[in-house]
Amino acid sequence: MCSRLLRIARPLGVRTFASAPRPIIVPSSQPENRFLAKVQSGVPIICAEGYLFEMERRGYVQFGPFVPEVSLSHPEAVRQLHMEFVRSGSDIVEAFTYYANRAKMRLIGKEDVLEPLNRAALRIAREVAEETGTIMAGNICNTTSYSPKDPETWELARAMFQEQVQWAAEEGAELIIGETFDHFGEAEIALEEIMKTGLPPVITFALANWTDGSKMGDKLLLQDGVHIVDACKKMHDQGAVVVGLNCHRGPETIIPPLQALRDGGCDFPLAALPVGYNCTHAKPTMQELSESGKSYTDLDTHTSTRYDWTTFGKDCKRLGIQYVGTCCGAAPSHVRALAIAMGKSPESGKNVQDLTKHFVFGTKETLEEAGNLKGSFLHKHGK
Ligand SMILES: [Zn+2]
Repeated sequence: MCSRLLRIARPLGVRTFASAPRPIIVPSSQPENRFLAKVQSGVPIICAEGYLFEMERRGYVQFGPFVPEVSLSHPEAVRQLHMEFVRSGSDIVEAFTYYANRAKMRLIGKEDVLEPLNRAALRIAREVAEETGTIMAGNICNTTSYSPKDPETWELARAMFQEQVQWAAEEGAELIIGETFDHFGEAEIALEEIMKTGLPPVITFALANWTDGSKMGDKLLLQDGVHIVDACKKMHDQGAVVVGLNCHRGPETIIPPLQALRDGGCDFPLAALPVGYNCTHAKPTMQELSESGKSYTDLDTHTSTRYDWTTFGKDCKRLGIQYVGTCCGAAPSHVRALAIAMGKSPESGKNVQDLTKHFVFGTKETLEEAGNLKGSFLHKHGK
């Protein structure tokens, strides 16, 4: 006999009884939504992102068009990166469908493989999530076709979201992440389409300082002039389970806007997923770090360290940010440092650095005990 009782709730697409005098409790064989349960429990949730940049670094994605064809051409490479992120502490396996939309596929003349590409990415993510006991997410993002001034583009964006979220739901996603929106209007359309699937939505905005000098992001404004605090509150009111910021800003420069969200009364589950580059006070977004004409391709020397992510994790704990993760430029070692800072014990934590055993930088006691002192150069290290 099924002992599980499910309280009927709206966003999950379960039958509702609006006229009932009190919440109706019915036996249900339907599993609860694991993501929603995690959010409601208040535990930290880690979501590793940054697939596009990491896949580019590994030679599978091209900077410029940024189309993730790799799920069809080298599925094993996508699977491997999912696994590395999970080993590093990611609770969520996000299907690599970022920019796998109709506009982008048209850009490279491959609109005909749009659906197979999406389904391949979704299936890889689902398999890894099933094998590792993690949660699988579908993913949509800014379409790059949206213009706040042209209603025709709103419907184009909607159509692109519609097909992608439908495929994600059919392939077993447990939540859908809509990310990197720099226009509020486009996020609103995305949220509406995600809500139709009945899956919990996560919406994150990119506070961008594009190179026109307007510095909208620094003013806490999205590109259509909506203040980030208002944008997040509206998304929450309209049904997003988690709302916040991703991309563009680094682990340090994303903190002031997060503080603004808290100070502005955003008292719901918040998200923070900065890029893996050390943006500075003078150049708070990764785009500003690049030399003119080399956008995204010359950021290597700005790569953040694991210690930056430890600090970021501590800042998030202080601010009570529940849903944290990484974005462009981040590596598994960053995810691991963040996960540990948030109090988790990822599998790859057993390989976290231990310099006490190094033959130059280690400690005399450790090496002596192991009988390894004679070959060491401990004296080179000095104090
Ligand atoms: Zn990013």
